[in-house]
Amino acid sequence: MKLPTFKGGIHPPENKELSSAYAIEEAMPSTKTVVIPITQGGAPNVPCVSVGNSVAKGQIIADGTGAFSVPVHASIAGIVKKIEPRIVTGNTEALCIIIEADGTDRTSYLAPIDPYSCEKAAAIERIRQCGIVGMGGAAFPAHVKLNVPADKKIDCVIANAAECEPYLTIDSRTLVEETEKIVDGLAISLHLTGAKRAVIAVEDNKAYAVEHIKEVIAKSGKSDISVQLLKTKYPQGGEKMIVKAVLGREIPSGKLPADAGCVIQNVGTLIAMSDAFRLGKPLIERSLTISGGCCETAKNLRVPVGTLIGDLIPEVIKLKPGVKKIISGGPMMGFSMMNAQFPVQKNTSGVLFLSEKEVSLLAETPCIGCGNCVNACPCRLAPVLIMRSVKAGDLNDAVKYGLMDCNECGSCAYVCPAKVRLVQYFRLGKMKNREIMAKKAADAKKGADK
Ligand code: SF4
Ligand code: SF4
Repeated sequence: MKLPTFKGGIHPPENKELSSAYAIEEAMPSTKTVVIPITQGGAPNVPCVSVGNSVAKGQIIADGTGAFSVPVHASIAGIVKKIEPRIVTGNTEALCIIIEADGTDRTSYLAPIDPYSCEKAAAIERIRQCGIVGMGGAAFPAHVKLNVPADKKIDCVIANAAECEPYLTIDSRTLVEETEKIVDGLAISLHLTGAKRAVIAVEDNKAYAVEHIKEVIAKSGKSDISVQLLKTKYPQGGEKMIVKAVLGREIPSGKLPADAGCVIQNVGTLIAMSDAFRLGKPLIERSLTISGGCCETAKNLRVPVGTLIGDLIPEVIKLKPGVKKIISGGPMMGFSMMNAQFPVQKNTSGVLFLSEKEVSLLAETPCIGCGNCVNACPCRLAPVLIMRSVKAGDLNDAVKYGLMDCNECGSCAYVCPAKVRLVQYFRLGKMKNREIMAKKAADAKKGADK
């Protein structure tokens, strides 16, 4: 049977067998301390606790006032020891609240509410209050995504369980271990968006999970939820690709899935939604994969948000000598980190410890104009032309060739025989372009104020 997919894409080695058979284990940092970035998706927050304060698990510790603000909560009960900048994913500094456990398990959860009988505004506010953002990587505020504007019509909610990044297996473990909550979160999403159907989209390398998911759906009586197998291909989990494969629709350039009549939710996000309504529990813990050739045993873990990866070594994560690269996220779109002293955030889906053999150390050589990158691009861009324009400093041309439509999936760099660091050029080009746009907007505002 021919499975739906998208045009382009690549087939990197999956390496999922390293961790896929390991059930999710609970783990705590050895220091009994968490380092929680005050903003994890949405508009910038400010702390609402001070050094010395005692906080309960689930208490809001940072929040903002904007429509896109999403609060952040204490993930353990304890004392606020410091509020200071720390290195986070991306190797940038972010203001963090450091909490040391006090040995209690005091919680400050909300009262459970029924998502079907409460007002829609109350349900959307519950999702915001519980700090829920997209857990698949982008950390987009879930309350904004589910509060569909009146001029948009949503007919389908897609549960994104493609998990196309090599090594990562946390979504596939979640699919078989917490299926009831995923179905519950999807049913709530259907209710809030007014969509008529929901599809759990799974790559065919996880076909073993389908029968179980179907049984859980049948038991729930939700006939508007189904499962769709997709061809295993990177980056099948990208928003544009999954919408094309599941619905045969294109998300227009610069637009959102809602503009193609759908909402996409990661499976972890759906579980967080179920917990927010049924338990009143905020998003304070995160499941993630720990893998790579330098792990003695790869794992799937559930840890408090703010756990420093270094604080799981060596008690929970045992490493072999020779770690060449540490990546926060998957090998295609993740961030290479200087060391393991960075916190797990709401959108951290995995951490990899790679050996020299797994890391391509070939030096970049000049582009030979082979066109491989054009064939691999799932967004139908011409990466070589964008790269040449960025290198030449011609951002107008780079934008014309689709710089801002690039999702940084890395497929083009993967197939490039010259090892041109294409994604690095695109990130640099986007940053410069945003700076130029911000300056233009500021100049225009100054002119209007005169
Ligand atoms: S140009 Fe962007 S979207 Fe296209 S393959 Fe390269 S990284 Fe992916
Ligand atoms: S794949 Fe690499 S070498 Fe080939 S055209 Fe693209 S950038 Fe140039």
